[in-house]
Amino acid sequence: MAEKAIRELTFDEPLLIERSVPGRVGYSLPQYDEKCSFGEAIPASYQRERPPVLPELSELDVMRHFVRLSRRNYHIDGGMYPLGSCTMKYNPKINEAMARLDGFGGLHPNLPVSYLQGALALIHELQNLLAEISGMHAVTLHPNAGAHGEWLGVRMIRKRLIERDGSPRKLILVPDSAHGTNPATCTLNNYKVVSLKTGPDGVLEPSEVERLMGPDVAGIMVTNPNTLGLYERNITTIAEIVHARGGYVYGDGANFNAVMGKVKLGKVGVDIMHFNLHKTFTTPHGGGGPGAGPVGVVSELEPLLPVPRVVKRDDRYELDFDRPRSVGRIRINFGNFGMHVRAYTYIREMGAAGLRAVTEMAVLNANYILSQLRDTYHAPHPELCMHECVLNDKKQAAHGVKTMDIAKRLIDYGFHPPTVYFPLLVRNALMIEPTETESKESLDEFISAMKAIAGEAESDPQLLTAAPRLTYTGRVDEARAVRQPILTWRSRGQEPS
Ligand SMILES: *Cc1c(COP(=O)(O)O)cnc(C)c1O
Repeated sequence: MAEKAIRELTFDEPLLIERSVPGRVGYSLPQYDEKCSFGEAIPASYQRERPPVLPELSELDVMRHFVRLSRRNYHIDGGMYPLGSCTMKYNPKINEAMARLDGFGGLHPNLPVSYLQGALALIHELQNLLAEISGMHAVTLHPNAGAHGEWLGVRMIRKRLIERDGSPRKLILVPDSAHGTNPATCTLNNYKVVSLKTGPDGVLEPSEVERLMGPDVAGIMVTNPNTLGLYERNITTIAEIVHARGGYVYGDGANFNAVMGKVKLGKVGVDIMHFNLHKTFTTPHGGGGPGAGPVGVVSELEPLLPVPRVVKRDDRYELDFDRPRSVGRIRINFGNFGMHVRAYTYIREMGAAGLRAVTEMAVLNANYILSQLRDTYHAPHPELCMHECVLNDKKQAAHGVKTMDIAKRLIDYGFHPPTVYFPLLVRNALMIEPTETESKESLDEFISAMKAIAGEAESDPQLLTAAPRLTYTGRVDEARAVRQPILTWRSRGQEPS
């Protein structure tokens, strides 16, 4: 047993290509027919002179290779993933079954509209459900991600201001607690960012907005609840100030898991918002699949939504391209449709009461963690939180232990680390979001691990500074991994060029 466990963790088995044995096959194809050669169709300059060197393996070898690789990755189906602001919740498998139904999974988006009626009905209903949940007037499902939704939202603000005043204005207010995609969105839309300081109790103050909201300011981007896990309780007053001066309020809905079914952002002054289906609505996140960032707007902005709009005329669903004020197309087809099927399944499965219960459990779980850890780790805002809580390494720093060491040591305890060093507002932050899908037992295991690590920080800090010990790689050079990624296979010993 023990040896097997170690084998799992050493990872120095031969790579796929090194297992190759000439002549071994894992497929069966029809006999190659000279007459069917593509020789004439492919220009000579593109033709290979020699067959490619590919690994020759049995199907079982290939299966084991990929399953082994998949086990090297941490994933929500394998363990708790308390990555703050990312809402890494369980993705129910019924979603997958629905997305794979032939009538959805086998559909081609270029089919005539008469063959797409079921899919268009689902899109239309999901748009309406999201509008209902958020209190927005209309929703588009086109954007591929939260960031794409933000980009579309600010694009619409820009277009609307040009329509209304002949000029888009120059600036946008972005709180200092914002996710990095907010300022990036402004820059991509040709706006300059004015950083808005968060008040001492972790929320925005109307007086700051009052001071900065000049005639050159197109609007404000607000994440509510914010990335400190606190509800922006002055949102209505702030929206009134922005509106009175001709600006628009963008609501970043990434943290919607904390207010769904409780607060309709459309009713507290938000003009445009995005949803992250891969956060709140249980579609796969990150490497698990493509994202989806639907955008909701108030009625004033509805004519600007991207084309085509899915509309219902009599009993038929149609694609409306005849929208002269639209910002245009922002991607091919209708968005990541498979994600729409999954999110729709989830919403219908939960119902209104279920979604409200999700919010309550998500907030309760985060508060449970905060209440259990705020004496062990420093909590800059130790009062009640929403869906996530923020701690830091202030108490452990005396032993030479930093946030990164705590995060890496958690891996040895079998947990994915929380979000670290974000929000920037909190020095060396550890941002924990358990989500509603974790049971009390898993929360307790996580809390025990965090407490054990705090104990080790005092008694044996080396355990933390050298962590992780039990993984294939230790600490990688994260900056280099991003800037100079090695994306192709190289034989052993061959140095990356
Ligand atoms: C995740 C997130 C985003 C960006 O969403 P993506 O879908 O990752 O592009 C924006 N704002 C906040 C607060 C987020 O947590």
